[in-house]
Amino acid sequence: MARPRERNVVLLGAPGSGKGTQAERIVARYGLPHISTGDMLRAAVAGGTETGREAKRYMDAGELVPDEVVIGCVRERLAEGDTGDGFLLDGFPRTIDQAERLDALLADAGRGLTHVIQLDVPEDELVERLAGRRLCRVCGKGYHVVFDPPAREGVCDVCGGELYQRADDDEATVRNRLAVYRAQTEPLVEYYRGRGILHTASGGGKLPDEVFERVTEILDGAAS
Ligand code: AMP
Repeated sequence: MARPRERNVVLLGAPGSGKGTQAERIVARYGLPHISTGDMLRAAVAGGTETGREAKRYMDAGELVPDEVVIGCVRERLAEGDTGDGFLLDGFPRTIDQAERLDALLADAGRGLTHVIQLDVPEDELVERLAGRRLCRVCGKGYHVVFDPPAREGVCDVCGGELYQRADDDEATVRNRLAVYRAQTEPLVEYYRGRGILHTASGGGKLPDEVFERVTEILDGAAS
């Protein structure tokens, strides 16, 4: 279904499973445009757009933004010219409805997903990772206060920007986001397994480089 050479990839995993970190590496190695619905929605909130105003109350509570809103963002983004040789979807789809709508959207363009990569991390580790997560306000680079600290506390190594904690990374919201993931997003694992495009990279207790090695095996077609 997919055109040759195309890599139309979905990164699937719970909050804190390392999707953002792996996405940075995938983009650097394979040159795929990174389509993160979380980043798009945060930009809409920061920009005070209508989409942003609608999305904010769901995001603050750790709930999913309505499918219609998110699908609209993805549809527009996929229509841009840079996605012709492939793309990396990060944080989308998150519901079966979104997955079905994505399939239909791609099928209309004569395309289809080529790889779904599930980052599989035990729940205890997810909470620990999310609680220590920090992001650069300027360039968006991710850090962890224990596992991947910046050279100077609170300051980005890359651009010198200020590091901050996402509002939805507080413990109560994190627990809700994980519950939402289990209830609404985890069923996608079986959905994609049934389509024969699911690959799993175990992320528990592993360094990002080790996980990325597995990810490259998958994307280079050397692994099932
Ligand atoms: P993320 O950065 O991927 O963890 O997303 C942050 C928040 O944005 C989520 O907790 C949701 O509120 C919202 N969000 C991001 N992607 C989606 C999606 N595909 N469907 C619904 N809500 C989303």
